[in-house]
Amino acid sequence: MKQLLILSGKGGTGKTTLAAALVRFSHSRAYADCDVDAPNLHLVIAQNTEPVQTDYYGFGKAVIDRAACIGCGVCERNCRFGAIQNLSVDLFECEGCGLCEELCPVHAVKLRKYVSGDLMLYQSPESVFSTAQLKMGSGASGKLVTAVKRQLLKQAENTAEWAVIDGSPGIGCPVIASVSGADLVLIVAEPTVSGIHDMKRIIQTAGHFGVKCVACINKHDVNPDNTKEIERYCGANQIPVIGKIPFDKTVVQAVNCCRSIADYPESPAGKAVHSVWNRLMEYVGENAS
Ligand code: SF4
Ligand code: SF4
Repeated sequence: MKQLLILSGKGGTGKTTLAAALVRFSHSRAYADCDVDAPNLHLVIAQNTEPVQTDYYGFGKAVIDRAACIGCGVCERNCRFGAIQNLSVDLFECEGCGLCEELCPVHAVKLRKYVSGDLMLYQSPESVFSTAQLKMGSGASGKLVTAVKRQLLKQAENTAEWAVIDGSPGIGCPVIASVSGADLVLIVAEPTVSGIHDMKRIIQTAGHFGVKCVACINKHDVNPDNTKEIERYCGANQIPVIGKIPFDKTVVQAVNCCRSIADYPESPAGKAVHSVWNRLMEYVGENAS
């Protein structure tokens, strides 16, 4: 099963709107939401089944056995994250690095397993949908993204030709975890200064991993000059721009009704997204190895 990953470099560009529509157009039987900090694909693509929910254990958290502790302060002095104060561990600050456990002269500190998120799997005869929600303050988002993808591949292997994966915003650890193993990245760029900046960073990140990219521009008519700059940059970097989606209030209407823009095929945005899908399939056909 090949992986189509949708990325944006920043939040709020319409990435999930695109992802939900592409799931519909492709009739994909396998899809995932890797935006584990704020998953929302399940809101747009209604599920008919209850998810199977699994505790996700990320990094451990330090726990001090006060009966064994001799109060030497070594752990507090050496914790780079300032997570220990007065022999108390702040669970939000502890990164689970394990240094205190290593240094404690009387082995009074131990790393304990800590539930840092919920992994969810929606499975029906028609489709497999993998997603997760990271607990507030937990920092193992990259590991959780890997778990979301692994769960999808395990449950849906051989049931779909392509998996559609809604990636994480940004360019950090969860994005790197999303890009790992992807066959094609669709970048959703928006014609703003920050949108262009973040698009460049995501192109560099995908390029670092040797994953092919195509791009589309959302709300292209909001700033034609910036749209031209995106096209120029993509052209100079051999990134095909496979579509331009106009600003369309129908998208807001669709989101407010928890529906996909694919449900509004006659709207300007609905037509443009469908065109993106067609161009994407042409690109895949032309570049099939
Ligand atoms: S595990 Fe690391 S971050 Fe957590 S309290 Fe110990 S030294 Fe600090
Ligand atoms: S290093 Fe060990 S003994 Fe020393 S203060 Fe920390 S927990 Fe207590």
